[in-house]
Amino acid sequence: IATKLPKVGTTIFSVMSQLALEHKAVNLGQGFPDFEPPQGLRDALNRAMNEGRNQYAPMHGIAALREQIVLKTEKLYGRRLNVDTDITLTSGATEAIFAAIAATVRAGEEVIVFDPAYDCYEPAIELQGARAVHIPLTVPAFAIDWQRVRDAVTPKTRMIMINSPHNPSGAVLSSADLEELAAIVRDTDIVVLSDEVYEHIVYDGAQHESVLRHPELAGRSIVISSFGKTYHCTGWKVGYAVAPAALTAEFRKVHQYLTFCTFHPAQVAFAEFMASTPQHYLELPAFYQAKRDRFRALLAPSRLKLLDVPGGYFQLVDYSAIRDEDDLAFSKWLVEHAGVAAIPLSPFYERAPDTRLLRLCFAKSDATMEAAAERLCRL
Ligand code: PMP
Ligand code: GLN
Repeated sequence: IATKLPKVGTTIFSVMSQLALEHKAVNLGQGFPDFEPPQGLRDALNRAMNEGRNQYAPMHGIAALREQIVLKTEKLYGRRLNVDTDITLTSGATEAIFAAIAATVRAGEEVIVFDPAYDCYEPAIELQGARAVHIPLTVPAFAIDWQRVRDAVTPKTRMIMINSPHNPSGAVLSSADLEELAAIVRDTDIVVLSDEVYEHIVYDGAQHESVLRHPELAGRSIVISSFGKTYHCTGWKVGYAVAPAALTAEFRKVHQYLTFCTFHPAQVAFAEFMASTPQHYLELPAFYQAKRDRFRALLAPSRLKLLDVPGGYFQLVDYSAIRDEDDLAFSKWLVEHAGVAAIPLSPFYERAPDTRLLRLCFAKSDATMEAAAERLCRL
């Protein structure tokens, strides 16, 4: 058959998780916690199912959860959302990203993405008949070179996608970055898609610079969040998109025919848990900072060079002192010979630079981190 996605194979996350299983490796590849969501949240989910909240949810999500999102967004980012017109619950951030692109980008248009880019972005762009214009982030800071963005904008540019805290690097955007972006999109009809799924995971006292803090950008942005990252339940696949009413109306036209609505019992559970335990996401930076610091201390005796981690739950490591080969070959060797699964960076690039970097996930229990570090320190 005539393939619509000639460049797409199986996602690296599935490939590495499968290899981890085959080789009984410690899996620091695919990003998911190996510990459970809060007990109160699991109890709330069970209650919701036992109390009969098992049929379709309203198309854009239950009101009680949208109300909690309004409260959270005002408290953290100082922006008052309209509960009816600005928020749509989705089946994970992945659905929200696809729906946002499908709703706004037409065939022949261009979308600027920064490499390394999370791997679901480009296929969603290509399926619209549009083109991803790749701009590499600087190495090793993984910062945006705004002059390159200015040079890349054309009359066909329909969207710029940003991701902070960034997967895979952990880099975070500053308020100065948002000013640069605002200046570039001013007086254009470019939509900003801001993937903020790691919004609550920033370190060393920094604040997350959501585009929702920036009134001018918020007026033309679709902002994407994921409950999976915040509440340690990536398998529930619930996320949401925030956008001004006119953009949300377009977004919902796609969402209603893509999935219509998302997992109803989880929405009831999140609404209840956010109301009863509003401190959960406020405690997340300290919770993950302790894991980051523990993981870095465990790896300090190894021959891996650790890059800085300002946000997210991934540690980038330079393995050049261990073997001089590309990241796909090294990650294969690592899972087979050292029993540790990691994620190479080259699948997130259009043209991968000649670096020797791997991504390790530290959303793990102490025992998992220790087992992985013991193996890595032997290399
Ligand atoms: N964007 C980024 C940057 C991610 O890291 C992830 C998940 N790892 C997603 C989107 C997708 O999130 P979800 O699992 O909620 O679909
Ligand atoms: N977002 C997760 C990661 O970056 C993986 C999600 C997936 O497997 N599709 O590891």
